Amino acid sequence: MTTLETSATAAISTRPSRAAVDRAVRLGAGAALWLGMLLVTYWWVADGGLRAPVADGGAVLALGQLAGLSASVLLLAQVLLMARIPVLERAFGQDDLARRHRLVGFTSFNLMLAHGVLVTIGYAGGDVLASPGRLWDLTVDYPGMLLAVAGAACLAMVVVTSIKAARRKLRYESWHLLHLYAYLGVGLALPHQLWTGEQFVGSTGRTVFWWTAWAAAAAAIIVWRLGLPAYRTLRHDLRVTSVAPEAGDVWSVYVTGRDLHALGVEAGQFFSWRFLAGRGWSRAHPYSLSAAPDGRSLRITVKELGDGSREVARLQPGTRVLVEGPFGRLSARARTVRPVALIGAGVGMTPLRALAEGLDYAPGEAVLVHRYADRPLFAGELAVLAAERGLRVVDLPGRRSEPANDPGALLDHVPDLAHRDVYVCGPEEWTEHVRSTALAAGVPPEQLHVETFRW
Ligand SMILES: Cc1cc2nc3c(=O)[nH]c(=O)nc-3n(C[C@H](O)[C@H](O)[C@H](O)COP(=O)(O)OP(=O)(O)OC[C@H]3O[C@@H](n4cnc5c(N)ncnc54)[C@H](O)[C@@H]3O)c2cc1C
Repeated sequence: MTTLETSATAAISTRPSRAAVDRAVRLGAGAALWLGMLLVTYWWVADGGLRAPVADGGAVLALGQLAGLSASVLLLAQVLLMARIPVLERAFGQDDLARRHRLVGFTSFNLMLAHGVLVTIGYAGGDVLASPGRLWDLTVDYPGMLLAVAGAACLAMVVVTSIKAARRKLRYESWHLLHLYAYLGVGLALPHQLWTGEQFVGSTGRTVFWWTAWAAAAAAIIVWRLGLPAYRTLRHDLRVTSVAPEAGDVWSVYVTGRDLHALGVEAGQFFSWRFLAGRGWSRAHPYSLSAAPDGRSLRITVKELGDGSREVARLQPGTRVLVEGPFGRLSARARTVRPVALIGAGVGMTPLRALAEGLDYAPGEAVLVHRYADRPLFAGELAVLAAERGLRVVDLPGRRSEPANDPGALLDHVPDLAHRDVYVCGPEEWTEHVRSTALAAGVPPEQLHVETFRW
């Protein structure tokens, strides 16, 4: 067994605990969601949901109520998933949370549609043809129903614009703005639950359950999406110190501020940045740190892609910066063994450059595979890390289509890939190819850490 394999099995002493905590959080979060679903289903059964008469639409109505209860639990879970709650962010990572947010979102919306249709048919005594008229009566006569219908319309718009085909047609900021209507939709759905939903207020237990869930969702947004970023911005007073060209359309931005060590950011992580210059304040952009945080300054490196990233080159020293984060699991936190492979393409190198500096490794334990079309980013800095830290750098210049650059050839460059923690970052299609190659090469899923710069 080579020294690398022995050190591979020698798990990093401090890390399993963080990894174990994260695993426990993921398990706990999943269990909490399922418990919530089971609890409302239990209350529905206790209320006779299973004994509802088929005649006169009773059973249809009952099924509609169950769909509504389940949709409500998932809707609140939706809000919590994207509330930037640090313990969830650390355990799942933002792109995994975004993926689950999508799945829970579509499921909740489909259940909400089923709720609307089944409850209407139920109140129409099972008469489908009478349902449209009944829906109108319910909407105008029942308390909170007009708001609920408006809420459903907001959520429908959010869901439709989040379908991949529709989203591709929208500018990111337009999509993001429309997505904010989700909060209005959730808020408008609430009153009819209180005013007509016997299941919601029928007992102390239910009242406590639902009010706690609604309050937790609202508090999470206020504390972690509004309060914490505002507190951090005031406490750290981040300012741009300089902007430097890295390659043609790629620029590094240096930022400094107060008590940077208290930001709690690790190499490999990213923030959502708002530069208070020109139109920059209206939009946050996620950029990864491209150097290990040293408590004195932060560096990001940005490739010009659209209007937001193009503004970066024109940033002036002294420009104030608002940040949300740190976010992301492409850090030492996810590490499970000592040997690492950092595999990046193009501007996807930024978090890996930071990791190559920030991770603890002995000479020979870390290899960095760098795929680039024209000029490599950070070539000089990587050469210093190779000389000083024994980082092995594998350059893969040229077109992606060249055989040596095909992710399938990875094992030629890193034959012991399966014994390493593998950190991957780059364009979506390329990272997916690297992911499948690594898994096929025997890299255990818990040793594979992938981030793409596109959600
Ligand atoms: C986790 C993460 C880390 C990133 N790190 C870096 C980095 O270190 N260096 C770098 O050059 N780029 C990085 N990016 C990509 C960068 O955020 C986008 O290129 C940038 O936001 C584009 O904005 P734009 O206005 O220039 O272009 P637009 O034309 O508005 O957007 C181009 C594409 O970028 C994506 N995008 C735009 N705005 C956002 C946003 N606010 N949130 C998420 N995606 C968005 C969209 O998918 C959009 O299709 C990262 C992205 C993510 C998700």
